[in-house]
Amino acid sequence: MPDQKLNYIAGEWLAGESEIENLNPSDLSDVIGLFAQAGADQVETALDAARAAQAEWANAGIERRYKALMSIGEELMARAPELGELLAREEGKPLAEGKGEVFRAGQFFTYYAAETLRQIGDTADSVRDGIEIDVRREPVGVVAVISPWNFPTATASWKIAPALAFGNAVIWKPANLTPASAVALTEVIARQDLPKGLFNLVMGSGRSVGQRLVESPKIDAISFTGSVPVGKGIATAAIGNLTKVQMEMGSKNALAVMDDGDLDTAVAVALGGAFGGTGQKCTASSRLVVHENVHDAFVEKLVAGARAMKVGHALAEGTQIGPVVSAVQLQENLNYIDLGKAEGAELQCGGDRVEQPTEGHFMAPAVFSSTTNTMRINIEEMFAPIACVIKVGTYDEALATVNDTKFGLTSGIVTRSLARATHFRRNARTGCVMVNLPTAGTDYHVPFGGRGDSSYGPREQGAYAAEFYTTVKTSYIAPGQPD
Ligand code: NDP
Repeated sequence: MPDQKLNYIAGEWLAGESEIENLNPSDLSDVIGLFAQAGADQVETALDAARAAQAEWANAGIERRYKALMSIGEELMARAPELGELLAREEGKPLAEGKGEVFRAGQFFTYYAAETLRQIGDTADSVRDGIEIDVRREPVGVVAVISPWNFPTATASWKIAPALAFGNAVIWKPANLTPASAVALTEVIARQDLPKGLFNLVMGSGRSVGQRLVESPKIDAISFTGSVPVGKGIATAAIGNLTKVQMEMGSKNALAVMDDGDLDTAVAVALGGAFGGTGQKCTASSRLVVHENVHDAFVEKLVAGARAMKVGHALAEGTQIGPVVSAVQLQENLNYIDLGKAEGAELQCGGDRVEQPTEGHFMAPAVFSSTTNTMRINIEEMFAPIACVIKVGTYDEALATVNDTKFGLTSGIVTRSLARATHFRRNARTGCVMVNLPTAGTDYHVPFGGRGDSSYGPREQGAYAAEFYTTVKTSYIAPGQPD
């Protein structure tokens, strides 16, 4: 009998109204557990408990918040090997990436532990004599966190940590494809000195539990990461209650490879950016915009590098590319391979299923050449280990191609020219820009987010997160004359 995993609501571990099976995408015979699906009444219980607990937490003092967050962060970092293995087992990313993700999640908590002690406001003199003004941040209230499967621990942590640090309560609905990582993180959080009900885990599908949460007038703010259509639906629901929203959605990131760049750097940056995390990253380099002078040499080396990458079980020694997350995602990826061919792109390598000793969703990393930016494979987010090369004649054409997308999360350039790098940094229409680095791979102490369809609302991460997780209060004080 597989493990049964419960929701955490109002300080209690509770069975749901139903359960789902969680399968290992590297080995479909491995059932990781049965995970509770919250009922409508349980969501209401969580919402009410969160409201009551938040009032206590907001007045609990920053030292208590600091200690709780620091303790969560330290435990995650210490247990990264164990929890990272669980993550890799259920999501499919290679073991080293799973461990790295849990460690990074710990760093979000320790960073925001320290941030609790840096909540300093402003003072001002009034324009009216004898009056002083105090400007400070207060918690926004009860925050719904809706997170995706591709970074099940890190994405949730970069939302939960600032939410708690700034004095809010949290109701977390994780992706149903990765509930084991959610339960593991909740177990760590539940051991802390937090008011009962301050933090709630409500597993369930987006269509039921997620939709109920985002439509609830009892939520003050929603932080979401996922797809554009779901994000738009959440924004529409939120506006009905004037609920604050922060959304990080898809992208179609481009890496520009210039003829003055180091070719080996370009290939390494492209391989890491395109195929890391099996291409299932919102920051993945899915468009490779390459100067014609280095195009053929770049494609040759890129294809050799992609062919050499080891596809396999996420937990196996030496695996560089794990399975894609689900059968549905794999089928969509294969459909995009067919679409690319039908659009006239040349498939240079990969794009087919890979047989392994275990039954899983394995796919060989694919490189398309002879693509244009008007093809659907260069317009739509595929979330797949598929990279498309677009040949350009000049730097200006490269920049225009990079910017020719409705998305705008990250972009990159490989060049040795300071002038081109500087011009690119200033003119790429993306929230993050990388110079001689993969488009994926960001730090935890600085803002993260994009433009266009990629993001909506205030930035996540670093001190900038305060914009979303707090509201500003301006007090006017007339102290009067001393006796
Ligand atoms: P979704 O946008 O469907 O899922 C993201 C989260 O939102 C999950 O927790 C999901 O729940 C939840 N959700 C789904 N529907 C609703 C709803 N109506 N109301 C509230 N919450 C909801 O993305 P998928 O996981 O299905 O992935 C599909 C595509 O989205 C990917 O192929 C990729 O293109 C993109 N994506 C982008 C990500 C990014 O980092 N920017 C991350 C993940 C996906 P559940 O899945 O549990 O039902």
